Amino acid sequence: MTRLLYRDDAYLQRCETRVANVDERGIRLEATVFYAAAGGQPGDCGIVRLADGVTVEIVDAVPGGAPDEVIHVPAPGVATPALAALTAGVPVVAEIDWARRYRHMRLHTCMHLLCAAVPYPVSGGRSPPTRHGSTSIPRARRSTGSSWARG
Ligand SMILES: [Zn+2]
Repeated sequence: MTRLLYRDDAYLQRCETRVANVDERGIRLEATVFYAAAGGQPGDCGIVRLADGVTVEIVDAVPGGAPDEVIHVPAPGVATPALAALTAGVPVVAEIDWARRYRHMRLHTCMHLLCAAVPYPVSGGRSPPTRHGSTSIPRARRSTGSSWARG
């Protein structure tokens, strides 16, 4: 289990924490500011920085198999010595790409508002594919005088 610090402060951009473990899927930390992809909102990108300044680029954060488990996915080609230094208990700083995350937060909130405003299935960032393509919102019928056709 990872302590999900963004639950208490969605605007937290970095934290000091320790490595919980590392495997072929990625890095697990004791605590994180990285949001793992869920509810239509993409996972965060950013860095994990070791005390000696070595930085590991994180290209995604995904849910692990356990509740509240976040896997920080390192960029392909991250130097093996950097990953080898990430062992259980090692102190690190985890920092997200804030500009990217903030855009995702705003879009996600916008999608919730859209969901309340239109009578069609809209998720936090995705809508199910239909015969029209990527959205399930049908085209407006000009003859109804309404912005949105119903049924
Ligand atoms: Zn949501």
